[in-house]
Amino acid sequence: MHVSEIFYSLQGEGPLVGEPSVFIRLGGCVEPYCPWCDTAYALHEYREMVPEEIMEEAGRYACRNAVITGGEPFLQWEPGLKTLHRELAAKGWRISYETSGKAGIPDLHDATVVLSPKNIAGQWQVAPEALARAHSFKFVAQDLASLREIDIFVQENALQKEKVYIMPMGMTRDEQLQRMEMVFTFCREHGYRMTPRLHILIFDTKRGV
Ligand code: SF4
Repeated sequence: MHVSEIFYSLQGEGPLVGEPSVFIRLGGCVEPYCPWCDTAYALHEYREMVPEEIMEEAGRYACRNAVITGGEPFLQWEPGLKTLHRELAAKGWRISYETSGKAGIPDLHDATVVLSPKNIAGQWQVAPEALARAHSFKFVAQDLASLREIDIFVQENALQKEKVYIMPMGMTRDEQLQRMEMVFTFCREHGYRMTPRLHILIFDTKRGV
């Protein structure tokens, strides 16, 4: 499997924010890549590991919550990630996925799937089947126009608002702070949940925290 990094931290965004977790970031994604990609290094920087090696490295931490992210993790579902998932679950790990849905989503009943649909040049890059398999949704907002596009997407696809989290786009603390009031105001007016990006607010551009 392509593995970009494995590290321990607190989940910084989305429905599980604040939860101690071992992050397993898989390498590679599906084109078109997002122009604002905040993990661009994961598209090309990775090492090859088999599921047993990933289990061994992740197991060094005193934590049994795994966040499997990317890149696009489900690109590697067959055969590697499926095996890793089965072995983590068998050993009692709680598993959550962060996915763009670009590579589809398997039908999972023993994991939490947080889907972050991407809108590139006005086109949402996610299939309706993937929407039905997600447990919650995380959108990135750049400006008021993108917030309106998210709202239309949520309504057109009949997503439940209590499962929708919106976070300000920003790879730096300053970018985050500049957009937080806009996202806060929109979420308050339209009944969405807002999520910060804690790791960026606290550590700015530092990786692996
Ligand atoms: S889907 Fe995620 S990892 Fe892939 S290009 Fe977009 S932001 Fe980057």
